[in-house]
Amino acid sequence: MIHFTEDQRMIQQMVRKLAKEKVAPRAAEIDETDEFPWDLAKVFGENGLLNLVLPEEYGGVNADNTTLCIVIEELSKVSPASSLMVFTTQALTNVLIRGGSEEQKKIFCPKFASGDKICAFVLTEPNYGSDAASLQTKAVPDGDDYVMTGNKTFITTGEVADFYLVFARTGPGERAKGISAFIVEKGIPGFTFGKKEKKMGLRGSPTVELIFEDARIPKKNLLGGEGGGWNILTQYGNLMRIWGAASVSLGIAEGALEYAAGYAKERVQFGKPIATFQAIQFMLADMAMLTEAARSLNYRASGMIDKGTEPFSKIEPMVSMAKCFTTDTAMKVTTDAVQILGGYGYTKDYPVERMMRDAKGVQIFDGTNQIQRMIISRSLLGKS
Ligand SMILES: Cc1cc2nc3c(=O)[nH]c(=O)nc-3n(C[C@H](O)[C@H](O)[C@H](O)COP(=O)(O)OP(=O)(O)OC[C@H]3O[C@@H](n4cnc5c(N)ncnc54)[C@H](O)[C@@H]3O)c2cc1C
Repeated sequence: MIHFTEDQRMIQQMVRKLAKEKVAPRAAEIDETDEFPWDLAKVFGENGLLNLVLPEEYGGVNADNTTLCIVIEELSKVSPASSLMVFTTQALTNVLIRGGSEEQKKIFCPKFASGDKICAFVLTEPNYGSDAASLQTKAVPDGDDYVMTGNKTFITTGEVADFYLVFARTGPGERAKGISAFIVEKGIPGFTFGKKEKKMGLRGSPTVELIFEDARIPKKNLLGGEGGGWNILTQYGNLMRIWGAASVSLGIAEGALEYAAGYAKERVQFGKPIATFQAIQFMLADMAMLTEAARSLNYRASGMIDKGTEPFSKIEPMVSMAKCFTTDTAMKVTTDAVQILGGYGYTKDYPVERMMRDAKGVQIFDGTNQIQRMIISRSLLGKS
């Protein structure tokens, strides 16, 4: 059994109730309209879900990785698209709290204290996705600023965010060595938005192109020093997958399993509920096994990060295993849930087809599952 602290259990109960009462009734509509749910952003802000990792004096609860996993899992059971704003917002504040200087915390934490700010994690470019070390967006020092030029693509919470954690090339050094990380505020001259993707799933979570044309970013917004961006990306970004894609997909799998099991008890064919047929029982059993294994792996990995007793070289592949296994599980479980609902499962009148479309997205974002397998095999075999 996974051990949660008293505080973690309280947050779990609170978010579960909020997800059921406020988020679930909106999930289908958010998917249908593909519009960002500002009403839910307000609810999340009012309930402290947008500044969980901040210290208490700034309205946060110093949330650890396991707590973040719990929150994202609960929201994703009903609406993964809505949970993504919580994920990307913590992604920036987590890097600020764990990787920023004391001076930077003093400057930026008060800006998040109102609890209603949304953040984005900005890495991918049109020509560089998995090969992030080749990114080309440039930030050139000029007086008290860096001047940023380049395009980013597929950015979750794109135009709705207030703050952006942007990775850009400053040098010194080539590839990973020359990458730096910046906090960029919305509204600065030279920073605009381009194409919004029309996605298969995770609809309502905007995925947008960002355009930087000689945008001036103050030097105080550089996190981790010049050339320190790759370290931030691996030390924090790679581990955040546990409360990102891994927890999103755990929630999706749990939501689909619960729905399919309930449906199987109600749906009657040949004079009996389909849940009495062994073929259906065994499908549900396999779905439950995979989901429970994913859950154990996820919380084992988040516990490893929180304890901090293992070296990064052990934690990183464990997080990749959790991301890869849990997202593949969500894909399998949602596909089987559609099968259990038969023709109805294939329609928009039931939530499992949305869950299946959402599950596909999480196999791709936060580093594709091929990239996760590379991280795992490298840790086994060494770099080839
Ligand atoms: C819903 C969604 C939300 C996203 N949100 C964000 C965000 O907020 N911020 C952000 O920065 N990015 C975001 N992304 C981008 C995402 O991180 C990238 O799509 C992902 O990293 C893959 O990059 P790519 O799409 O360019 O694919 P590519 O890198 O072009 O890969 C194409 C295929 O080749 C495979 N491949 C690539 N290299 C290798 C290799 N060496 N060995 C084996 N296989 C390989 C990949 O696994 C994939 O199957 C999001 C994407 C999606 C779909």
